[in-house]
Amino acid sequence: MHLLKDIAVDDHSRARVAIHVNPDGSMAVDAAIGFSESSIKLAVQKRARWVVNHVVEARDRYAHVRPKEYVSGEQVLYLGRRYVLKVVPVDKAVVVVRLKGNRLEVQSTSGNPDDIKGRIRAWYRVKGRDYLARRMNTLTQTLPWSKSPPPFRLLEMSSRWGSGSPAGEIILNPHLIKAPRNCIDYVLIHEMAHLRHHDHSPEFWKLIDAHAGDWRKAKYHLDALVEVLISE
Ligand SMILES: [Zn+2]
Repeated sequence: MHLLKDIAVDDHSRARVAIHVNPDGSMAVDAAIGFSESSIKLAVQKRARWVVNHVVEARDRYAHVRPKEYVSGEQVLYLGRRYVLKVVPVDKAVVVVRLKGNRLEVQSTSGNPDDIKGRIRAWYRVKGRDYLARRMNTLTQTLPWSKSPPPFRLLEMSSRWGSGSPAGEIILNPHLIKAPRNCIDYVLIHEMAHLRHHDHSPEFWKLIDAHAGDWRKAKYHLDALVEVLISE
């Protein structure tokens, strides 16, 4: 599932070209097999104004996301909630990262931003792996085509929340663990539905409509948060 706005440019037949504008303002074009380079160019040119508008808008929004400094008082997102980062100086070898009330407490011997960043990133991965596995277990029981939770792994991707391999493995963006729970569920159901339908056919959306609740609201929410969620 792509991070942000995508459109499908329908050509005469069932063949399609889809244009995606990534949160950092870069863009990608997906075309069905058999599409010639010139017809892809033509399809993009037809939507030139849309592309330019979205690229400018994405770059503008991305520029306003301040890079983190990894110091106490900054905000950290986890499952859609904001926590206050508290860096706790310690002088022992084994250091701890933990949620305590509304704070994310990160112990560190050096207080070095790179060290703090690395510890938070590792914490997100451990939490993410655990939460996403549990969620897919639960969702499997409500999705009739899913007999058992699919294998998955985490991979940082600049343009996708998730994707599925033909072998049935799901790849998820670890930044997802910062998003609200309903948004995470939508991404998981979306990718699990792709194990049944590999495209975005009407049959695919029928599954989503039937099993992903108020997914439009979740997608809207996720799109609105994307720059904040993928910024470090
Ligand atoms: Zn998809």
